[in-house]
Amino acid sequence: MSHEGIRIVSTEEAQRDLADEKLPIAAVTPQKIRVMKTEGTGVEIDWKDGHKSAWTFAWLRNACPCATCHEERDKSGRKPGAAKPKAQALLMLYEAPPRPVEVTPVGKYAVKFKWNDGHEAGIYSWEYLRRVCHCDACLTKREGTKA
Ligand SMILES: [Zn+2]
Ligand SMILES: [Zn+2]
Repeated sequence: MSHEGIRIVSTEEAQRDLADEKLPIAAVTPQKIRVMKTEGTGVEIDWKDGHKSAWTFAWLRNACPCATCHEERDKSGRKPGAAKPKAQALLMLYEAPPRPVEVTPVGKYAVKFKWNDGHEAGIYSWEYLRRVCHCDACLTKREGTKA
């Protein structure tokens, strides 16, 4: 086997490790979405089931669900949202904090960011975002299943 070709990881495959339970539709339907693009802070979503999630743009950039970023995280053992190890970051003199230069809705199910580093391959579905909610309650729940 000398040529494997380009490995195409579908978004579904890339998110499979997170998709351990089926979420109710109200849990993956945003009631209200606030993208603080001008402020450069992050995204907040109020879900139909009453849950609230918030992420910084830096976190979301590090949680990019595209195949390339997913594979890169997989190889280095990083969780979605975790920052790259320092050694890598030190190679750059100055790294501007991640923020989107463009935010585009994708149908009714997702949002796409064009980041200030030029990357724009990631499509953040509501389901993905809900699954990577890192509020205290969700973190405790997720840590609890692992520990
Ligand atoms: Zn990506
Ligand atoms: Zn949560």
